Amino acid sequence: MKENNMEPIIKIENLIFEYRKEEETPPVRAIDNVSLTIEKGSFTAVLGKNGSGKSTLAKNLNGLLIPTEGVIYVNGYDTADDNHIWDVRQSAGMVFQNPDNQLVSAIVEDDVAFGPENLGIDPAEIRRRVDKALEDVNMGPFRGKSPHMLSGGQKQRIAIAGVVAMKPSCIIFDEPTAMLDPKGRNEIMSIIKELHEEGITVILITHFMEEAAAADRVVIMDEGRIFLDGTPSEVFSQGDKVRSVNLDVPLAVELAARLREKGIDVPQNIISTEEMVEFICQYE
Ligand code: ADP
Ligand code: MG
Repeated sequence: MKENNMEPIIKIENLIFEYRKEEETPPVRAIDNVSLTIEKGSFTAVLGKNGSGKSTLAKNLNGLLIPTEGVIYVNGYDTADDNHIWDVRQSAGMVFQNPDNQLVSAIVEDDVAFGPENLGIDPAEIRRRVDKALEDVNMGPFRGKSPHMLSGGQKQRIAIAGVVAMKPSCIIFDEPTAMLDPKGRNEIMSIIKELHEEGITVILITHFMEEAAAADRVVIMDEGRIFLDGTPSEVFSQGDKVRSVNLDVPLAVELAARLREKGIDVPQNIISTEEMVEFICQYE
């Protein structure tokens, strides 16, 4: 836990978001009265089956979508206030599922510099930020390469570096590992954890329960509403509720429940595979 973690970085008040197509067709309500406060420096995982409103919520957090009703403050700025849209976008960076849709330049370092250049930052400072961001994602040696030559995981790391170089307070990752192989997925997860340790507020939308176990808060969405909200152990200990919205619990939680049925006293706070391994090793 970081200092001043009781300060909100994002405040969502009674958010309703409706997609409108043509005038005649009724609007689709994707977010139905969500209120949520995200503390500075926290790591929140957002779960929910397809269509539950996760991506719509994410896009509302950095002003890509503007609330139909309700209000969202990011770093104190109202996302609906045109005068502060760049403050909102700079404060809350977004990383999407498909890195190919996020890379814009033919050279890796130009890509990472793109965001800060658009913020009008001085070239020497941009250079420093690009160096640091590439180092953060372990892609320094690839700076002169073409993004098209890289693997999916490497491209996603470049996309993350591009967001990091804008020095956001908060990064919203919308299923960043969904298109990656297990190795790429692990690399992205380590980077997300390191960014969080450096003090960045992380919101991670994922359908991998193991990834959610790494967060300090888990929010489950269902039909545009918040269905469960708590620490990973609070949420995942409610296995039946979690399964009722078509989600699984992390493997370690499932194993812990089965071991308890066999009379082994497994502590409630075991959520991650690493914690389970440590617990089992005591029995050697
Ligand atoms: P998730 O990310 O959890 O899968 P989404 O936020 O993408 O959910 O979608 C929430 C709801 O909004 C779904 O019913 C979906 O069909 C609808 N929706 C998403 N994008 C659009 C769009 N551009 N136009 C109309 N409806 C949309
Ligand atoms: Mg989505």
